[in-house]
Amino acid sequence: MIAANDERVNLHMARAHAAIALEGAEKEACREEIRALLKARNAVLVAHYYTHPDVQQLAEDTGGCVSDSLQMARFGKDHAADMLVVAGVRFMGETAKILSPEKRIVMPTLEATCSLDVGCPIEEFGPFCDAHPDRTVVVYANTSAAVKARADWVVTSSIAVDLVDYLDRRGEKILFAPDKHLGHYVQQQTGADMLHWDGACVVHEEFKAQGILDLKKVHPDAAVLVHPESPAAVIEIADAVGSTTQLIAAARRLPNPVFIVATDQGIFHKMQQEAPGKTFIAAPTAGNGAACRSCAHCPWMAMNGLDNLRAVLRADDALGQEIHVDPELGRRAMLPLERMVNFRR
Ligand code: SF4
Repeated sequence: MIAANDERVNLHMARAHAAIALEGAEKEACREEIRALLKARNAVLVAHYYTHPDVQQLAEDTGGCVSDSLQMARFGKDHAADMLVVAGVRFMGETAKILSPEKRIVMPTLEATCSLDVGCPIEEFGPFCDAHPDRTVVVYANTSAAVKARADWVVTSSIAVDLVDYLDRRGEKILFAPDKHLGHYVQQQTGADMLHWDGACVVHEEFKAQGILDLKKVHPDAAVLVHPESPAAVIEIADAVGSTTQLIAAARRLPNPVFIVATDQGIFHKMQQEAPGKTFIAAPTAGNGAACRSCAHCPWMAMNGLDNLRAVLRADDALGQEIHVDPELGRRAMLPLERMVNFRR
């Protein structure tokens, strides 16, 4: 299964390509046109922290939202717009559609996927769940609509520890998928009885503890911020571990002037806004001189840009980049997703 998963992920990575970068007057004209198109279509832009700073800035400037996947889901569900333009990866668009079936959900490109989603196909995950009927199925938001529909709960990294702790206190045993590093971190934090799927994020899995320790020698006053999709050895040396939103809060809160950050570099835009004057350095990935697959930047998040965002808004048919979810599947996935959205709100 591991080899098959690697092969599937590599195929998708080979197809990923960064969005066209616009500069100067061309960029400004594009921003203005998108602004007008959002208004004309009664649409709102919902962007993830890992997207390009230009996309994040435009979302903020047009009354949209820049956030983690939990807040994106909540914002999109609560917003009165007819259309949500989701800049991120495909599962985020699907989540928005399931939670708001009456809205049109479009994305700059539907090709933007996630290695966790790709590595957890329902054809394999369904039988895995069937083999463990005594376990409560908790899946990460980074999964397909079909996998969510098979789950009891959906979580994001911002609530995974609290939710599993809550289920553990109720005496429930957990089947957790697909990120094994997040799953092991949650298990270590809660002591819950957990069975893990063997998935990983291509970005976070590459961070190296030794590289971070070497970098700390150069920056002894630096704090290390780590997303829990990273390997255990990296989490162990962190000063703060958490979701993207929690890491941004740590950058603001901690007194250190320098931060070594083990998550996608797209987050630096928001960190610099929230903690001006501080320095952010990407945590080393594949070790000295070695090639990395992601180099601390998600190849699929990088597919979102102003140019393809404008293109889907210009066309009445969104150039085919509209999310559709089978209504029956959506109905089944709605329950665990709504549990996530409403958990300790
Ligand atoms: S950064 Fe990792 S978890 Fe996030 S979308 Fe990219 S591959 Fe998936």
